[in-house]
Amino acid sequence: MSATQVGHVWLVGGGPGDPGLITQTGLDALRQAEVVLYDRLSPVELLDECPKDALLIDAGKAVGRQALTQAQTNATIVEHALAGKRVVRLKGGDPFVFGRGGEEAEACAEAGVPCTIVSGITSAIAGLAAAGIPITHRGVAASFAVVTGHETPTRTEEGAHWDRLATAVDTLVVLMGVGNLDSIVEQLIAGGRDAETPCAIVQAATRPEQRVVEAPLREIARVARESNVEAPALFVVGDVVRVRSRIASVAVSPLARKRVLITRTRAQSSTLAEALRAEGARPVLLPALEIQRRADAAEVDAAIAKLRAGGYQWVVFTSENAVQVWLDLVAEHEADARIFAGARLCAIGAATAASLTARGLRADLVANDASGEGMLDALLGAGVDGTSVLLPRAEGARTVLPDGLRAAGATVDEVTLYLAAPPAEAPSGALSLIRAGQIEAVTFASSSTVRNLATLLGGDLSALRGAVVACIGPQTAEAASAAGLPPTVVADEASVHGLVRALREHFAHAATDARA
Ligand code: SAH
Repeated sequence: MSATQVGHVWLVGGGPGDPGLITQTGLDALRQAEVVLYDRLSPVELLDECPKDALLIDAGKAVGRQALTQAQTNATIVEHALAGKRVVRLKGGDPFVFGRGGEEAEACAEAGVPCTIVSGITSAIAGLAAAGIPITHRGVAASFAVVTGHETPTRTEEGAHWDRLATAVDTLVVLMGVGNLDSIVEQLIAGGRDAETPCAIVQAATRPEQRVVEAPLREIARVARESNVEAPALFVVGDVVRVRSRIASVAVSPLARKRVLITRTRAQSSTLAEALRAEGARPVLLPALEIQRRADAAEVDAAIAKLRAGGYQWVVFTSENAVQVWLDLVAEHEADARIFAGARLCAIGAATAASLTARGLRADLVANDASGEGMLDALLGAGVDGTSVLLPRAEGARTVLPDGLRAAGATVDEVTLYLAAPPAEAPSGALSLIRAGQIEAVTFASSSTVRNLATLLGGDLSALRGAVVACIGPQTAEAASAAGLPPTVVADEASVHGLVRALREHFAHAATDARA
């Protein structure tokens, strides 16, 4: 490829703030970007989706803390694209709704740079929805207009025609209007809009700090001032605001925007994170457990050589982590699944069996009772006398299994693979949210994560006292109490969905109590 080959530009709408509200195409573009220009309104969490070595340019606050002008932004986009880069211009909401995306597309067109528009979810619609306000509603609002409330003194022709808008549409959504509320309200009333029309202001919609204030048109400017409403905010005028009181309690999830701490290992966090996101929550990952490899090279070499030579009749996996680490080691020895050809595979339980399946292997034997004793029973039932057993496992694991197998006449080669320990360093973002008291709930799915989190936080969990504490089961709940963080809720079913349900019910009740 020649160095002068032209790159490509994506103008991506990042949605109103909730990082879940970007499109799949937008995410795909971000994940392969080489240069990303973002600004104040682009959801900052989305930057984590960019490749690690992508060049990130803050177009809202560049060198010297001065925002790039639109001309500079256009020039920067074009310059990187002409240098052959994949450039993503990440914007808040939709790129063409007061996002100046049209100008950026024009700049690309003039420079001969190919440019793909990736539409986004506009705050004008989704921001209202996040407050429980439908922008249209049968019998209430059959039309809407999205208007800028920002006065640009140099370009007066851009000003909205408030006098005509006042009565032209049922729902009016004003963006960039908080600084001019008095004047907008005055013009709407002068234009004939009923001063009693219900209005709302949604500040920081879909973000954890979202706030909503409501008042009739004649009072909204004063109420907004008294509540210190700040940008970014949406000003909505119309009878649809009334629908909010009827639907918000169900249409807005009780977990919406709540920051929920997840303390499982990174690999195990994703199912809980997905279940929480699906209910509108903001998972914050702080893996309190980390798999540290503790394999002795000579021991591993010997076991792999023996396995390759067909020397083991059984390979026994006592955890998902053992499966992952052992198969990684096999791959590092330039071998693959065929190395297990002469052996039977045993898994401690369904989750471990599933992780074998995920790596292309089927367990011959799965213990029903997922414990060392249960596994021993299962193996004894299958017959181990005179066999050679490979047991790759964690440092400090219990000895009931190897002892029992040896007593039954098997030769057991234990190979230590890893240690499950608190990570040396916790993610600083998660730690600062905890210290700032901005974590609304913390989840524990095992006793060891409770203890390890305490270690990570410097010995105690008091920084989380203000948070709702959700435990997966009674044993974990006990560990939390012992660590000085008594559980608020305990799941009645020990699963990810049980945990999420317990949290949802807690916050639903809390919201009802607050309304009462
Ligand atoms: N392209 C964006 C709008 C950009 S104009 C979109 O489609 O949403 C910037 C204005 O959008 C802000 O001043 C504010 O009025 C509104 N806005 C954007 N994100 C918002 C949010 N999360 N909450 C409230 N208002 C928001």
